[in-house]
Amino acid sequence: MIRVTELALPLDHPEHALRAAILQRLQLRDDQLRHFTVFKRSYDARKKNSEIKFVYIVDLTVQDEAAVLDRFAGDAHVRPAPDTAYYPVAQAPAGLSERPIVVGLGPCGLFAALLLAQMGFRPIVLERGKDVRRRTKDTWALWRKKQLSPESNVQFGEGGAGLFSDGKLYSQIKDPKFYGRKVMAEFVKAGAPEEILFVSKPHIGTFRLTGVVSRMRDEIISLGGEIRFEQKVTDLLLEDGQVRGVELASGEQLMSRHVVMALGHSARDSFRMLHKRGVFLEAKPFAIGFRIEHPQSLIDHARLGKYAGHPALGAADYKLVYHASNGRAVYSFCMCPGGTVVAATSEPGRVVTNGMSQYSRNERNANSGIVVNISPEQDFPGDPLAGMELQEQLEAHAYVLGGSDYCAPAQLVGDFIAGKPSDKLGEVEPSYQPGILLGDLASALPVYAIDAIREALPAFGRQIRGFDRPDALLTGVETRTSAPVRLTRDRESLQSLNTRGLYPAGEGAGYAGGILSAGVDGIKVAEAVANAILADLETA
Ligand code: FAD
Repeated sequence: MIRVTELALPLDHPEHALRAAILQRLQLRDDQLRHFTVFKRSYDARKKNSEIKFVYIVDLTVQDEAAVLDRFAGDAHVRPAPDTAYYPVAQAPAGLSERPIVVGLGPCGLFAALLLAQMGFRPIVLERGKDVRRRTKDTWALWRKKQLSPESNVQFGEGGAGLFSDGKLYSQIKDPKFYGRKVMAEFVKAGAPEEILFVSKPHIGTFRLTGVVSRMRDEIISLGGEIRFEQKVTDLLLEDGQVRGVELASGEQLMSRHVVMALGHSARDSFRMLHKRGVFLEAKPFAIGFRIEHPQSLIDHARLGKYAGHPALGAADYKLVYHASNGRAVYSFCMCPGGTVVAATSEPGRVVTNGMSQYSRNERNANSGIVVNISPEQDFPGDPLAGMELQEQLEAHAYVLGGSDYCAPAQLVGDFIAGKPSDKLGEVEPSYQPGILLGDLASALPVYAIDAIREALPAFGRQIRGFDRPDALLTGVETRTSAPVRLTRDRESLQSLNTRGLYPAGEGAGYAGGILSAGVDGIKVAEAVANAILADLETA
């Protein structure tokens, strides 16, 4: 297979133009090009006044591959295509009695369980929340009626934290084995739109993701896996530093020497339990801030100029970074074009924001987290759980600032920069449900974070005109940007540094940040578990 990169075509090109461009680029007759697939399609909108084009990477087969590669030997844009297929690392022997346990059915647990099932290891999955259908009902109850279900919400339940999300499926991780491709291929197999395989910034949106997740669950079960909802793991059974199994809230004990902990960043009770049991964990940096909302049209015009609203480009996104004079980095986080700000708490008496959208991304506002990096050394030294405690304090204070009924505290950007409370909205209408309470956000975060964000917003306004418009809206607080702890693991075996048989995984363990990277980590951990079980059999 040959890979051709940097094939540029106008945004409105007809479908057949791509084949014609390939033939022209490789100087081939039509009958010499056997087959091609788009590996990636992107566009570059950085130079606003020039024409925006689609830029393709295509993989293709031709009649005489060696001759074509020879002819383009000096051309960096015509190369042999890498093999991105996934090859399982193991196959369970028939009649294997050891069954690995996977705790958590977010993207990491989902892929760990799916891969284990595909390799024949029949995993048992324990998820504290409910299946997608019932979970959706519970989550809407908070957004519509201010009723929180602490075990079934935006953070907990089938699909994990990414279920009610923008469903962005891209990541900055290094992926030499193309595990990300496997994640995407499985999503497509379970009903995700095929374009996620090739567009440069794929997203899937909330509603589609719910269907995909439940079809993946069906595959795990059909391969002999077991999925149990409303089964919270409350204890770890250990013997001489080796995992023996887990205990559930019901008191039931399940035995296994291989337990994947894919808990997500919000399982604070579970982090406390693991710390109490002596599992190695350490504090890690994360970020805190607010959500900001603008009209999507403002972002579209700033990013795409005359192409704003072009159907082939969809709603525009952005990525911003600013280094404040107090040494803090302020950046945009989890930007959701054409989406809504959502109530993302999993705990009573707390308010947390995040963002989500549907596949169409056609809500009126764009939103993103505007967050400040914080670290254990500088901001929460000492106890490994101190970062988590800081999150709890900030979220509890936000609850009070919002009126103590799950509404979120909010302030207009102009007032925030001027240091005065807001009492009236401008043109930007808040999307947060169940509602916002206007006031003063100055006490919602530590002073250094407030100072840094105050300085950053006008600087962002110089990059995106109108970003600091006075009636843009800030809603607080954004605290669950990533896990505040790392359950550090051995690089080779992927087991906890001090607890054999325990495989910390995904975002909650500090090894992923987002749906795609959590899925990739699930695959890596599944492979490590499979190899370890087979090695145990050999030594037994
Ligand atoms: P999680 O998805 O958090 O899953 C952990 C699971 O473990 C949960 O289902 C939980 O119920 C379960 N669990 C926890 N403790 C226990 C226990 N003791 N016993 C049993 N089960 C337990 N990322 C993106 O890449 N793109 C986006 O667009 C995006 N948008 C987001 C929008 C929102 C509103 C939120 C909240 C997050 C968003 N994210 C997004 C982040 C993304 O969801 C996470 O990075 C990802 O879900 C992490 O996957 P995970 O499997 O490691 O953990």
